[in-house]
Amino acid sequence: MQADQSALQCNACGGLCYFSPERSALECLSCGECYDLGQPDDYLARDEFAHRPDVAEPEDNITPAQRTHQCQNCGGEVLFTGPALSAHCPYCNGPVVLVSGDAGYRTMALIPFRVDAAFAKRLAQKWAASRVACPAGLADVVAQGDVAGLYAPFWTFDSDEVVQYWANFVKPGGKAIRISSTKGQMKIAFDDMLMPASPHVTPLIRDGILHDFDPRDLKPYRAGYLAGFAAERHHQTVAEGIAANSADKDLLIRNHIKYKIDRTGVHGIRYLTDTSGIHYRRILLPVWILHYSYGGHAYKIAVSGIDGRTFGERPFARRRLALYSAAISACVIALGMAIGAAAAF
Ligand SMILES: [Zn+2]
Ligand SMILES: [Zn+2]
Repeated sequence: MQADQSALQCNACGGLCYFSPERSALECLSCGECYDLGQPDDYLARDEFAHRPDVAEPEDNITPAQRTHQCQNCGGEVLFTGPALSAHCPYCNGPVVLVSGDAGYRTMALIPFRVDAAFAKRLAQKWAASRVACPAGLADVVAQGDVAGLYAPFWTFDSDEVVQYWANFVKPGGKAIRISSTKGQMKIAFDDMLMPASPHVTPLIRDGILHDFDPRDLKPYRAGYLAGFAAERHHQTVAEGIAANSADKDLLIRNHIKYKIDRTGVHGIRYLTDTSGIHYRRILLPVWILHYSYGGHAYKIAVSGIDGRTFGERPFARRRLALYSAAISACVIALGMAIGAAAAF
């Protein structure tokens, strides 16, 4: 992921270029000249790579160590390209220092930013302003925060699963609850399961992006797309990536089993799965993160760089929350009385 500085320099005036989400091109900060980063073979970015557990990862997937910034607070290692240089970690707002980072893995593809900084900030403010039971002045505090653009590392995984399962379910009928058991076999084909490729990609960041992912939007990795943004390099081996996300995959398999059994009160699921055909991509996805603090606590708001979907953390105003809960209770009581009244007729 070594940014080739010459590639970020304007051919017309020698000025520094950054990637403009608005123009979807590399734009010169000095003269405004634009450079399209697209190539006729961009569709190759959709390629997936086979993972064979018994075979070592190809040498050309490993890229040498390089100078990155490491966060003193969360340990996140971030690369700043072009005019993005920041003294703060985009993940947690902690101070960063320049370090000689570890060797990383080649990023195969990315989805470039489509939402620019100003729009992301407006979306974050709108999100904060529309929360219920917000403390007074929250929107003003958020308005003072800055958004940091980050390319966060993700995996996509495909796999074919042959699952054998055993489970219990509740049998309807009669007054006594009767438990019955079942077993079976099923095939699941996972396609483009999107999984975080770093412990710093928290659920807040992940959920902001997950819904928007479409592999057809992927572009081959080029340093120009990173110009003006921070990025985290890939450090997990494929096996580490699979292990780190095994709980999520387990949950998906259990949901498939429940759906297949299609009974009420399914519980005590046990299963064995035979996994084959693992394919993967190491990709980067764009997110804007706004940090703010309120009442001495740090919060963040994540805005998808793809379509602006916004998720965040926020404080609650105790008094307003109490009023809000009271209003909901009143509604529920009124509804209950209405139903009661209807039932009485
Ligand atoms: Zn220029
Ligand atoms: Zn940090």
